[in-house]
Amino acid sequence: MRPEKLFALFSEVTRLKGVGPGAKKALGRLFYGDESARPIVRDVVFHLPVSVVDRRNSPTLPKAQDGDIVTWIMRVESHQPPVRKRGVKLPYKVICHTKDGFVTLVFFHAKGDYLLQVLPVGAERVVSGRFERYDTLAQISHPDIIAKPEEFNAIAALEPIYPLTGGLSNRYLSKIISAALEIVPELPEWLDPAYLAQQKWKDWKASLLSAHRVSTPEDLSPLSVARQRLAYDEVLANQLALALVRTRFKKPLAAPVMASGALRAKAIASLPYHLTQGQEQVLHEIDEDLKSGSRMLRLLQGDVGSGKTIVALLAALSVVEAGRQAALMVPTELLAKQHYASIRRIVEPLGVRVLLLTGGMKADVTEGDIIIGTHALIQEKVAFRDLALCVIDEQHRFGVAQRLALSAKSSDAHVLVMTATPIPRTLTMTAFGDMDCSTLTEKPAGRREIATKAIPLSRTEEVLEGVARATAKGEKVYWICPLVEESDDDDARTDPAAAQARYVEFTHRFGPRVGLAHGRIPPQERDAVMAGFAGDQYDILVATTVVEVGVDVPDATIIVIEHAERFGLAQLHQLRGRVGRSDKPSACILLYVDRSGEVAKSRLRVIRETNDGFRIAEEDLKLRGSGDILGVRQSGMPDFRFADLGLHYDLLRAAHDDAKLILHRDGELKSPRGQALRHLLYLFGYDENIRFLGAG
Ligand code: ADP
Ligand code: MG
Repeated sequence: MRPEKLFALFSEVTRLKGVGPGAKKALGRLFYGDESARPIVRDVVFHLPVSVVDRRNSPTLPKAQDGDIVTWIMRVESHQPPVRKRGVKLPYKVICHTKDGFVTLVFFHAKGDYLLQVLPVGAERVVSGRFERYDTLAQISHPDIIAKPEEFNAIAALEPIYPLTGGLSNRYLSKIISAALEIVPELPEWLDPAYLAQQKWKDWKASLLSAHRVSTPEDLSPLSVARQRLAYDEVLANQLALALVRTRFKKPLAAPVMASGALRAKAIASLPYHLTQGQEQVLHEIDEDLKSGSRMLRLLQGDVGSGKTIVALLAALSVVEAGRQAALMVPTELLAKQHYASIRRIVEPLGVRVLLLTGGMKADVTEGDIIIGTHALIQEKVAFRDLALCVIDEQHRFGVAQRLALSAKSSDAHVLVMTATPIPRTLTMTAFGDMDCSTLTEKPAGRREIATKAIPLSRTEEVLEGVARATAKGEKVYWICPLVEESDDDDARTDPAAAQARYVEFTHRFGPRVGLAHGRIPPQERDAVMAGFAGDQYDILVATTVVEVGVDVPDATIIVIEHAERFGLAQLHQLRGRVGRSDKPSACILLYVDRSGEVAKSRLRVIRETNDGFRIAEEDLKLRGSGDILGVRQSGMPDFRFADLGLHYDLLRAAHDDAKLILHRDGELKSPRGQALRHLLYLFGYDENIRFLGAG
């Protein structure tokens, strides 16, 4: 149960003064990229300003620069209501006089009587806003502030500017945030008093308030005292949540998995290729864990196409040979089916029973030796016979809690999580805590580098000619349609309409051998299309990012990504990994808009320069710092609000040690500090992790 002190923070935003259904939608969009989300007060107070307007800036008129935010005392001289000029309605103008010249206040779509009321002729007013010169005429359009001189002192000299979304102005959002800050409770101190004193941090509430109420621009720095404390709290919650998973996990000893390796040897003999040395090595590491008598918790990192699946399967065969069960959890239905088909081909001839379980399916999982599925696997009603190995593929799609839920299906199952999104080594800690790590560095033999080219959209026609040539040679082509900006949800971010339009165009141009796959197509139909592309039916697949994860069609040699500038680095790398899966030369074509922003251009440069997933991940992290919004979720990293791991790495280290020590002393979080820490965990949404603790 969430502690009572947190109730205010977890209540819906509509309880705040001035927040109605419209603002709730806008806040949902702002915080979750989704209008129908249910933003809470906590989200509001966690939304920190990104810059600050200094209302103290009051230069003389000749010194004022275009774009400056200025604040002047002025006298209202006259009003010029709009006139129509050749059918165009001109703006409403109010001519004012400052101590050293005329300034015109400009209003589009303004109500004259309202303006007469706030700017009566002859009156003195304080006006603040963005200054510009229009044909040498000094003007301010839509001033931010118009106030009587005696009111002016009440206006904050430094006004925080918040990240915004359509439908919310900064003033309005500031009001909402102020209202929310009013009801922020005092929370029990969860930090070690000695550490708190050493860092010179204030308590949580005071820190949160000063992060909003900036008094100097330096207060905005992630390294400011207030923001460091908030960042520390955040990473401490993260590290503690992971440590809880870990300790709970460590406790039970697993029965050693005893297998002669005969079953595995048969499977290997049937493969059309040899395992790479890296694959052998990782298998060896896994075998050691399985035999060790304590639970394995291992992360297998390997770039796209490095052959992680077969490693997982061969590990599973040890478990199966010992008469127990293995489960493979993947993030999408498509991927589950694909793994199901390819794994069956390899192991059914050996008498191994493979089952598939996806949403809406009923299957008795006790019947299978290897069970493949989506998160349907973690439903309450799914009960395994004797689960000894959980493999979680493309882990970045699953949260800590989901990973935990699968392993909780058995008292002693070993866990292998696999990721194709290489995470900079220094940072694996935040996503996994202390996991053992294996890495597949080499690619299977015979793979060629993928040639990556960036081509402006204006030259799409040439690319289409290339597509025609490739398909004439019997090769296959992915055509990835753009993301739509401003949404965090993957499927919503892709634009089915754009994909549909391309599809129609391509069927006219290339004939019927074109398939279409996107998020709005029912999964069964989509799977049939994918199967048709993997098989004989289609040469070209027009798709959205539904094909991003794991899809394996070795004949595909070209992937074209439209509006590549809109994709995150990790995502581009994943998509590119769909080709180059055979010994034929492959290409990745990034169609981009010439006027893309700097960050987008840097991303395209990085992806052209390297095929090395680790380097890409590092670069991604750097560029992310530059305000990139798209692509955050692809990184596999928790989405921190306050912590910037580039800048707060020392805090992360400290939190890591702190978390260990806390659980060492008070494993159930029952001491007063433990109780306070429960508040912290709830505050950051680690409810699931707390459920595994006693009631406290
Ligand atoms: P990922 O690591 O991205 O999940 P997959 O497991 O899907 O990669 O493997 C990619 C492709 O490489 C598959 O078609 C698989 O059969 C093939 N493969 C795996 N290991 C080898 C190997 N040692 N030699 C050749 N091909 C391999
Ligand atoms: Mg894979």
